[in-house]
Amino acid sequence: MSLAPTSPAAAPDPVLALFDCDGTLVDSQHMIVAAMVDAYAGRGLVVPDRARVLSIVGLSLREAFTVLGAGDPAFPVEEMVEAYRSAFMVLRDREPPEPMFPFSRDTLDGLRRRDDMLLGMVTGKAKRGVVRVLAANAMDGWFATVQTADDAPSKPHPAMVLQAMEEMGISGARTVVIGDTTYDIEMAKAAGAHAIGVSWGYHPVGSLVTAGADRIVDDFRDIPAAIAALVPGGAPVTV
Ligand SMILES: [Mg+2]
Repeated sequence: MSLAPTSPAAAPDPVLALFDCDGTLVDSQHMIVAAMVDAYAGRGLVVPDRARVLSIVGLSLREAFTVLGAGDPAFPVEEMVEAYRSAFMVLRDREPPEPMFPFSRDTLDGLRRRDDMLLGMVTGKAKRGVVRVLAANAMDGWFATVQTADDAPSKPHPAMVLQAMEEMGISGARTVVIGDTTYDIEMAKAAGAHAIGVSWGYHPVGSLVTAGADRIVDDFRDIPAAIAALVPGGAPVTV
């Protein structure tokens, strides 16, 4: 509205857009599945099928192996965490970096340049994994807050979102989590934030809807419009 006051004092708080990493920004399934195969084979255990492995991406490693162990008290959760870490590090040094999903980098670049937008990351990855992804894609410093499995309980616990909101001084009403799994959606909702589910990741769209996703997007370029639809004065329809 042209009659609305335009003084800086009247500007709403920025929108805090918190992105998941694996399955949302980067396609890491090749590395994750390969590291799982190595970890299980190294202990003579049967590797879970691919769908089951992908279902736990996004959880912290300890939580992931607790789920995969399915409550079997004999399942060596701690050993598997270490075996997976070792296998992943070997692969990381040998394989090319995980590719980013189509249009993700350009869209993030558009969002990060806006004065009314703050970007953050909320991921089950360890901090060093995040540092590596950001460096590999020349995105150092793009995320004003980075919350990892090193500093918080695993998703779907809301701690990572709550910590990001507190660090940035932004309310849940102006915070949007963007992720590919039910863990992201449940985490966002438990923190009082909005949730956008992406269809190109590792959980089926139907489960994201059931978990409470406010919007589903099929293309990274649709994320700014989805944010704008959820938060008044949020991101523009185009970047
Ligand atoms: Mg994910």
